[in-house]
Parts: sequence; structure tokens; C-alpha cells
Amino acid sequence: MRRIYLDHNATTPVHPDALKAMLPFLEANYGNPSSIHFLGREARAALDDARERLAKLLGAKPGEIVFTGSGTEADNQAVFGAVRAMKGKGRHVITSAVEHHAVLHSCEHLREHEGVEVTMLPVDGDGIVSPDAVRSAIRDDTALVSVMWANNETGALQPVREIGAICRDRGVLFHTDAVQAFGKVPVKVSDVPVDLLSVSGHKVYGPKGVGALWIRPRTKIEPLLHGGSHENDRRAGTENVAGIAGFVRAAEITTARTGSEDARLRALTERLWQGSSGRIERIRRNGPADQRVANTLNVSFAGCKSDALLMSLDLEGICVSSGSACAVGSLKPSPVLLAMGLGTEMANAAVRFSLGAATTEADVDAVLGVMPGIVARLRSFAA
Ligand code: PLP
Repeated sequence: MRRIYLDHNATTPVHPDALKAMLPFLEANYGNPSSIHFLGREARAALDDARERLAKLLGAKPGEIVFTGSGTEADNQAVFGAVRAMKGKGRHVITSAVEHHAVLHSCEHLREHEGVEVTMLPVDGDGIVSPDAVRSAIRDDTALVSVMWANNETGALQPVREIGAICRDRGVLFHTDAVQAFGKVPVKVSDVPVDLLSVSGHKVYGPKGVGALWIRPRTKIEPLLHGGSHENDRRAGTENVAGIAGFVRAAEITTARTGSEDARLRALTERLWQGSSGRIERIRRNGPADQRVANTLNVSFAGCKSDALLMSLDLEGICVSSGSACAVGSLKPSPVLLAMGLGTEMANAAVRFSLGAATTEADVDAVLGVMPGIVARLRSFAA
């Protein structure tokens, strides 16, 4: 059976060169980078090299990068670390209604268990946060603003530059979850006024279980993990040398092709949207048509259920998602789509197509070939 993978926002296949970069550290060069002997020194050199290269990609200095065990950990480290480091002086956090659970649930935990007030900013119909809303929400005791760079469900790009400038002006720390932006749009901390930035390996054709948090120099941050003095005393635990080597090699390859991929993937997602809206009635595009990462298209098919659409496409060998992978199985409508003003029925009828490096026009046309029939069949059951 054909296999068409249109779920790259959930995860990406590991690039062969990234795998090649990992293998030595799983085979002969298995040393612990904290060991003094030559095997340890080899691992340390690889870690230093990876840190330097990731820093270069982000427009940062190597000492500002902390490798983590995931994008989720980087987000948790940013939110908990920044607020706790203020030792009770910052009792207020601002975030948005469309953040990934890694940020949202961290903020909720702070509210429920550490007495922190959380302002959840609304979004407009396209899922965009207004910089003016950030400006109005900042208080004297605001410890942190956390607004993502690109949304995982709709691809919407937030005005991080403007939000960062407001935070800088008011002396408030700004964290951005750039997990879905990195590799899809240029992400440079030298260009955007940001203090903390999260990235993840498996969204950029690297391995799962590795990420990084960039921390602006002199930013006070409390570690999440305690133990050894790894990562400059900021993240205890023996580093995942192979994972880090694979992540950084993949990030280099992916960021180098961002420009050409943007045009190609934008044309493919437009082809998918135009083809769908031309063939199928009562559908809605969720999220901005232009202000988005190029690979993502989110569509609601009125009268169908997301899970039925997913299963029908699955039977055709087509992998898509109904929203964030972590929420799958819960059958709850996507909070992101609800926050954008969709009713429960349309939020429950959404499919996220997220294209990637291997996606071709033929893949898109194959989806267009089966989609009208699937939708008609599901609508006839519901009628
Ligand atoms: N932030 C966003 C926007 C994401 O899309 C994801 C993954 O889906 C994460 C954070 C979490 O990254 P990881 O899967 O590496 O924990």
C-alpha cells in the first residue's frame, strides 16, 4: 500500500546524515563527556562542537545553549525556571490560549501549586495574539511572557518581534516556544528581542528525545533537574551525545533549505487547499492563509468527525492528524480551534495536514483524489 506521510508537525523522519552523525556515539565513541579519559574527551569534543554549531544556527553563543531531553523539557525549564528564579517577586505570568501543552500545563501548574497568577491572552479568528493585548496585560509583578513562534495545529506565526519589543521595553522576560518555527522560518535570537527560546530535535529531521533551550546571558533561571554539574550547572544529567549530534546535523540541513522549502511547501499546501475547496463544499480553512509556516494546512469538514476522517485516510495509507498529537485519544475539540472562535462541531471536524521534505505534488493529488469520496461517505452516515 502507498504511504503518504502528512504529519510532519507531529514528528519527522530522521535525515540519513543525522543518523550517520549519531552512530559513532552509539558505537565506538560511547564515552561519557564528563569522563577524564580519551573516550570521555572525544565525547566532550563532540558535545562542544554540536553546541557551537547550534549556537551559530540560532545566532547565539555556545555558552547560552542548554541541551534538554525534549522540546517539552525546554518549555518547562523556561517557564518554571524563570518564575522560580524570581523567588516570589514575580507572581504573574502571561501566555496565550493557543500554546502547546508543554507551556500551558506548566503555567497551570504554577497557578495551582505555586500561587502564580496566569493571564491567558485570547487570539483572533486566525489564532494570532495581539501585541497590544500583551502590552495591556503586563503588570509590575509580571515575571514572564510566553508566546509561541509558530502554532503546531494551524501553523500561525505570532508577532514575536513586536511582543518581544514590548517585553524588552517593560523589562519583562520573554520566552518563545520555537519548536514548530525552527527549520521552517529563519529563527535567530540575534534578530528578535527574546530571552528564552525552545527548540526540539524531532521536528527538524533529527531524533526524538532531544531539544535545547537558548538562554540570554545574565537571565536568572532555576534548574529543573538537580544532580551533577552538567550543562554549566543548568541541567543535571549525562548528555545524550548521539541525540545531540543527530539533532544539530539535522538542524543544519533543515535550516539550510528553509528558503527553497518555504516556496515549495507553500505551493503544495495551496494546491491542497484550492483542490479541496474546489471539490468539497462546506469546508473551512483554520488559521491564516499567509502568516503561517508553509507546510501546515488545517481544514474543518462540516458534518464529519476528525477521528473518522483520520481513520478513513489511514485506510488509504495517508497519515494526518486532528490537532496536537498529545491530545489525540481524548476526543475533545482542539482548545486552539475553540480559542479561534470555532464552534464545537467545526473544531471536532478538523484535520491538520503537515507536509515535509519528501512530500510531492503526486502525494497532494492522491489526497485530493480520495478526500471528496471520504467526506461524502461520512456526511451520508451523519445525515
Ligand atoms: N512545542 C510545540 C509547539 C510542539 O509542537 C511540540 C511537539 O509537538 C513541543 C513543544 C514538544 O516537543 P517535544 O515533542 O520535543 O517534547
